[in-house]
Amino acid sequence: MVAAATLAERSTQTGLAVDLHAVSHQYDLGKSILPVLDGIDLKVAPGEFVALLGPSGCGKSTLLRLAAGLETPARGEVLADGVTVTKPDPSRVLVFQDPTLFPWRTVRDNVAIGPQARGVLAASGARIDDALKLVKLESFANVFPHQLSGGMAQRAALARALVNDPELLLLDEPLGRLDSLTRLSMQQELLALWQRAGYSVMLVTHDVEEALLLAQRVIVLSERPARVKAEIVADRPYPRHRDDPWIVDKRREILEILGFAE
Ligand code: ADP
Ligand code: MG
Repeated sequence: MVAAATLAERSTQTGLAVDLHAVSHQYDLGKSILPVLDGIDLKVAPGEFVALLGPSGCGKSTLLRLAAGLETPARGEVLADGVTVTKPDPSRVLVFQDPTLFPWRTVRDNVAIGPQARGVLAASGARIDDALKLVKLESFANVFPHQLSGGMAQRAALARALVNDPELLLLDEPLGRLDSLTRLSMQQELLALWQRAGYSVMLVTHDVEEALLLAQRVIVLSERPARVKAEIVADRPYPRHRDDPWIVDKRREILEILGFAE
């Protein structure tokens, strides 16, 4: 019998190709229509790490929800590996800023939610252990969420996403509520996990430096309704350092694009 590949062994696996083609979206507020996205063209190559920056309320979370298939665009198309996205799929996983762990379930049982929902819980024991190991929570498997620090809770949420073997990880300001030191170590972990697993990443962050430290490409969005305002290719080797003159320069450039002249 051939053993199932563990998450860590899947380094040759490539991620999902994402193609947002002329995507516009709006919300019906009853008395009025709120245009949120305006003709977004954005491609993510298999295994690419793309960061999205933009003013608060411009439509970043909406864009991730469209990529996840939680909503369908008013106009345009979202393609995953060339196929139109019409509904959520375990291959595309969204991780939110607030980990939203179930308080009455242990860490392990929270991580098990995906396999359980898909009816494959019994066969997924090793995979769940693996996901916990990847985020270094194996010794906290049996504790409850209230016993975790903010960083650990966010790692548990990551494990819950990784256990589904995503081909596309959609991260919506996942480190936004963490203290700055935890944030630094989580940035390293996100990078290491991505380098190991090879999935594609779309990371929404409000931290310009974080975008430049992690992503291969940084997309800057305009005020709502969001359009792609700028695209910065960050083909710098990892690990990157915040005091690298290139990062310092690009950070200033992006802040200017966002309207914060220094
Ligand atoms: P961001 O993540 O960039 O802050 P969002 O995508 O969350 O922006 O929201 C964009 C705009 O759409 C905001 O003005 C928000 O209030 C509005 N919005 C988001 N979701 C909904 C919804 N389900 N119904 C109505 N308006 C929404
Ligand atoms: Mg948001």
